[in-house]
Amino acid sequence: MNWRRGRSGRPLARAKARLRREGANVCWRCGGGIDLDLPPNHPMAWTLDHKVPLSRGGDALDPANHAEAHRRCNSAAGNRVTAPPQPTSRRW
Ligand SMILES: [Zn+2]
Repeated sequence: MNWRRGRSGRPLARAKARLRREGANVCWRCGGGIDLDLPPNHPMAWTLDHKVPLSRGGDALDPANHAEAHRRCNSAAGNRVTAPPQPTSRRW
């Protein structure tokens, strides 16, 4: 029923452009600044992240669920929901 939103441009692309333009350009995961001049495939490049992952019921298009993040930080969180892998050394 709500086809109008899906047809006129891509809502996520628009939300992304807006956040990038109007946001603070600070990574919400590590707190570091994000350089908008970096190429998109750069580890520290700007990306739109989701506070609640889509796989856990987060809304892909809700601006309230959007956050700015480095590509590195974004993908690191997206691939692993749990803690990062521990190094082999386990000293108590
Ligand atoms: Zn970061």
